[in-house]
This record gives sequence, structure tokens and C-alpha cells, in this order.
Amino acid sequence: MNCYFHNDVAGVTNCPSCGSALCRSCTDTSPVILDNKKLCCKCAKESLEEQLQKIRSQYFWAKIIVPINALLIYFLISVFLYSSPDVAIIPIWIIGGITGLPSSLSFFFSPDERTVDGIIIRIKEEKGILESCLVPLLFGFLFAPVFVLISLFRNSFLLYNGKSNIRLLEKQLASVKHFLADT
Ligand SMILES: [Zn+2]
Ligand SMILES: [Zn+2]
Repeated sequence: MNCYFHNDVAGVTNCPSCGSALCRSCTDTSPVILDNKKLCCKCAKESLEEQLQKIRSQYFWAKIIVPINALLIYFLISVFLYSSPDVAIIPIWIIGGITGLPSSLSFFFSPDERTVDGIIIRIKEEKGILESCLVPLLFGFLFAPVFVLISLFRNSFLLYNGKSNIRLLEKQLASVKHFLADT
């Protein structure tokens, strides 16, 4: 079968998402990998746009979550060190469970993420309600302080890498769009 994008060139592989035949130059151009195979540029564009949106919102929330988590850890440490009755542990525990939840969840429950050039590309479908909400919620509240700590590390990491990851994704997206416009 000939390449989907270049009708006169023989295909050497198929896009793992839509199945289109791809020639060597198409495979070389695409920056996104799924199941050890390059996505076609059309699917790569969709995946990159989705990823860019996700990283932008993660970066936005990290700026809010990091100071909250740092403050909570400070309070939790003072509670454990001085067992002060003045400090309300229950609200801290609950806020900890909530703020630590989203990042801890993706940390624990996302085996279908792939890393391309240091960027996590997530393509597979979302999980069911039990797996995506109830189990993490239970863990979140049981182990709130642990989750806050994980959340702080993860969001600090997102904050640290956010800008350069967004720039890299924008560059990859631009090159894919350029390729699609040319064919
Ligand atoms: Zn495709
Ligand atoms: Zn091609």
C-alpha cells in the first residue's frame, strides 16, 4: 500500500491509531510514538493539541497547588512535632486529600502514558468511574499527608518543567502542521 500522504511513495509502516500507510519520510517527521510506532501526522497533531492543553492547565494549577501544599506540610509537621490542640488536623487532612488528589491519581493510575523527548504523551481512553474516582478518593483521604507530599513534589516538577515542555510541544505541533500544510 502507498503512503496516505504521498500517493506515489510506498508505505513502510502503518499509523498505530488510524491505520494509514506511512512512508519513511512521514515516519521520520512525526514526533509522537504509540506502542513503539510513530503516529501519522494527523493523529500526532490531535495528540499534541490534547497534550498541550493538558500541560497548560497542569502548569496553571501547579502555580496554585504548590504554595497550598507547602503550607499544609508546614502545618502537618508542626502538628506532629508539637501535637498542638490549637491546630485543627481534620480540615488540614481534608484539604490535603483534595489538593493532593489529582496529581497523585495521575501518578498512581496512569500506566498508559508514554514519554517522547521528555514529554508524557497520553493517548488511551479514560478509566471507569470506580477506578478513576472512588478508589483514589478513598486513598486520598486515608493517606492525605502522603498525597500532599507527592503532590508537592509532582507539582514542583511540573512548575519547573512546564514552560520548556509547553515550548517543546508548540514546536512539535508547528512542525506537524507545517508538514500537513505541505502535503
Ligand atoms: Zn493516524
Ligand atoms: Zn509519506
